[in-house]
Formats: sequence, C-alpha cells, structure tokens
Amino acid sequence: MIQVKNYIGGEFVTLSEDFDDISPLDFSVIAKVPRTRNVDDAVDAAKKAQPMWGALSIEQRCDWLDKIANELENQIEEIARLESMDTGKPHHVALNVDASRSVNNFRFFADFGRNMESQTFEMSDATNYVVRKPIGIVGLISPWNLPLYLLSWKIAPALLMGNSIVAKPSEITPLTAHFLANICSQVGLPAGVLNIVHGYGPEVGQAIVEHPEIKAISFTGGTSTGKIVAATAAPMFKKLSLELGGKNASIVLEDADLDVAVPGVLRASFLNSGQICLCGSRVLLHSSIYDEFMERYLQELKSFEIGPVISDEHRSKVVSYIDLAKQEGGNILAGGNIPDKVGAWIEPTVISGLSHTSRTATEEIFGPVVTVHPFDSDEEAIEMANSTQYGLAGSVWSKRKGREVAEKIDSGMVWVNTWLHRDLRVPFGGVKDSGVGREGGMWSLGFFSEAVNICVMED
Ligand code: NAD
Repeated sequence: MIQVKNYIGGEFVTLSEDFDDISPLDFSVIAKVPRTRNVDDAVDAAKKAQPMWGALSIEQRCDWLDKIANELENQIEEIARLESMDTGKPHHVALNVDASRSVNNFRFFADFGRNMESQTFEMSDATNYVVRKPIGIVGLISPWNLPLYLLSWKIAPALLMGNSIVAKPSEITPLTAHFLANICSQVGLPAGVLNIVHGYGPEVGQAIVEHPEIKAISFTGGTSTGKIVAATAAPMFKKLSLELGGKNASIVLEDADLDVAVPGVLRASFLNSGQICLCGSRVLLHSSIYDEFMERYLQELKSFEIGPVISDEHRSKVVSYIDLAKQEGGNILAGGNIPDKVGAWIEPTVISGLSHTSRTATEEIFGPVVTVHPFDSDEEAIEMANSTQYGLAGSVWSKRKGREVAEKIDSGMVWVNTWLHRDLRVPFGGVKDSGVGREGGMWSLGFFSEAVNICVMED
C-alpha cells in the first residue's frame, strides 16, 4: 500500500485524514491519499521560494528541468507501472504515451527555454524590448486521464518562467504526482519551488483557486468544473488558462486512403479507452465509403486492446449514455456490454443510426463509445462536425481536400491524415466550451509570465 503525501516546502507531509485510491483494474485499494482542505502552508512555502527561483537565469532553470527529465527517464518504467495501476491503461500506453511524454515535457521546455529569442521592436527614435517576468505563485490543477503527462505539461513551463507552484493532481490518480515529488526531492530542487497537495477538487482545488496569493490558474478538466474555476478566479483578476472538454469529429472523405484512415480513426476512437480529450468520439463517414470503412473498422476493433475506464462511477456514466443512445434510436454495432470480470471494464462500443444532434452525439461521454454518422457532401460534414458546444480538436482523412475541410472546422486543433501527432511548440487549446487560452511552446511561456515592455528613447 502506497502512502501518498503532500510535498510542501521540500518536506513530505501526511495528514490525519486520508481517503482510498482505488485501481480500476480490480477495485483494489492501492494507496492512501491525504485529504487536504487548505493550502496556506503550500502557499507560504511557495512564497518563500519564489524570489530566489525567479532570480535564477533561464539557463539555470533549464538545467533544473533537465535534471528532473533525466531522473524521470531513469525511472520511466516505474512511471509506467504506477500510471497503469492507477488508471488501468495498458502498460504500452502508460509507457509510450504517458511516461515518455512526461519526460519529454521537461526536456522540451528546457530546450525551448535555451533557444527562446528576445523580442524587440525598433522605432525610428526608440527601441522597445520585452522582459518576461514571473507571475509569482501559480496554481496548477489537472485531471485523471493522463495524470503526469498533463501535470508536467504545466509544471515545466511554470518553473521555466520563474514561478513557484502549488499543484493538485486528480484525487483519482495521485500516484505519479507523488512520484514526481520524490524525484524533485532526490535531485535537490530547491524547497518550496514545487509544492504538490492532494485531495478533492471542491476542497483543495477550490482552495487553490480562491487563494489570493495565487495569481494564475492553469486548469485542465471538465467544462462544468471549468465554469466554477472561472467564476471563482475572475473577480480576483487571476490569469486563467482553461483546457476543457471535447466531442471531436473524425471526418473521412470519399477520397480517403482507408489503409491509413481505418486504423487512424480507430486509434482516435479508443486509445486510453476513449478517455483523451482529443479522442474522436464522432465518426463522420462519406456515404460512398461507409460500408467498406465500417466493415474494416469493426474487424480491426476486435484486436484493439483497451483497459477499463477510470472508475466504477465513471463506468455508470458511460453506461447511462449507451442506454440513452438506445432510447434515442441508436443501433449498437459493437460492444455495449460490461464484461464478466472485476474492475471498471466495459466493451468498446460503436453506435449508428443517431442524429448528429442527438444528446449521445453531442454530449461528452469520455469513454470507449463512438457514434457513426454518414454524410453526402463536404458542407454537410463540416456542418455536422461544428454542431456541438465543443471545439477542441478533430481529424480529416482525405488525399486531396484535407486542408480545405480542416480550416472550416471550429476547433483549436485539426489533424489531417493523422491523429495525436504533436509538435510541442504548437498552440494547444479549444474554442467554444472547450476552453480559454492556449498552452504549448511560446503560448505556455506567455501564460506563465508577465510580458513587460521597456521603451528606450535613443540619444
Ligand atoms: P474534473 O473537472 O472533474 O476534474 C479536474 C480537476 O479539477 C481534478 O483535479 C479535480 O479534483 C479538480 N476540481 C474539481 N472541482 C474543483 C473545483 N471546484 N475547484 C478546483 N478544482 C476542482 O475533470 P476529470 O473528470 O478529472 O477529467 C475529465 C475531463 O477533463 C473531461 O471533460 C476531459 O475532456 C477534460 N480534459 C481536457 C483536456 C484538455 O486539454 N482540454 C485534457 C484532458 C482532459
């Protein structure tokens, strides 16, 4: 049994009140997690550490990020083991998606920081130059689907820009954040620069968002939680980055290469049991390729390995959507059942026959459930893709018209003939109810700093 501890001011702290961390693989209790209710100690520690950390040069902070990356890389198998146990995802996903990207987040921002160019704007009689100052103490809140991947995506740029941090991972998946705290302690990261507190969202998460000394909040999670975070933070004029839910479309045009599109769309449908905000949970198929695509897709689905969903409670939500789909007139083409084994398992499920405006096809399920819809023209596909409140991501599969259609999709990111292919320099974020702001490369550095202009009059 792992005892998860808060990491505050470089010390590991237990609390008298704990709750259980349950593995979705078999519902066993794998850890005890402290139930933190206030963040005063973490904020005090962050406040003490920030001036020293902010005064280091960018190069020095890049060196720290590299030290963390190196130590994470040395223990990459352990990250994958913990992530797999905590989330239920297959080991190869935990290793190749979660663990490797967590290492890469630190490594990427270290390299990016070293190559950051200064911004100057010349006038005929003066020079402007931009100084990027730390914000101070920042609050980072992350979800359970890609636990260390998403938390480190925030921690690395926040540290790079000279901030100190109060971070809170999801209460459902605390293990790798605790592991990261151990790594930071081992490499000797100065005390108080990174503080990690554990507990429930409405308690310790809310305390982070409410704390007046925390000047910026980077939040990744559901749209309804994002609304609470925004409503709490806005009157305090905190900087806010909100990465929220999605209901993304994978659009297969009539000229798609099905050898590429079928496995690509399948992976977008079910990787991580459909629990990636970027997953394509709506598959839009040109009617001329519908039958062939579906035959191959359903065939390949039979050998696609998925883990359970994150919890029994989340499985109930997923099942309620399968029931809703039936009420809405959907046909279950595959899956739909709960396998006879312990754990939060559910079969990957494919549903046809629903209107693209049905609740099943427009609300975020965040599980291994996909709806399939035929269309007859590009315009119809675009209209269908854009007909939800969300606008996070999407993919277009076509030999000739990918760019043209991609540019008409109202979402923050669109892939053409690929999915989840990421260059960490590019902007990442959603439009509509999928979020506010962008992270990634320079966008992250912009968020985690205050850009100050100095205008110097020439002699
Ligand atoms: P969630 O909103 O329930 O929780 C996210 C985090 O917020 C958790 O750490 C939780 O404890 C915390 N939280 C809950 N209430 C809070 C409050 N009142 N104040 C502050 N923090 C609070 O989301 P989840 O169920 O953990 O994750 C799934 C959701 O995350 C899905 O909607 C998914 O689309 C979204 N997501 C989005 C992205 C993205 O980049 N856009 C990435 C991954 C997941």
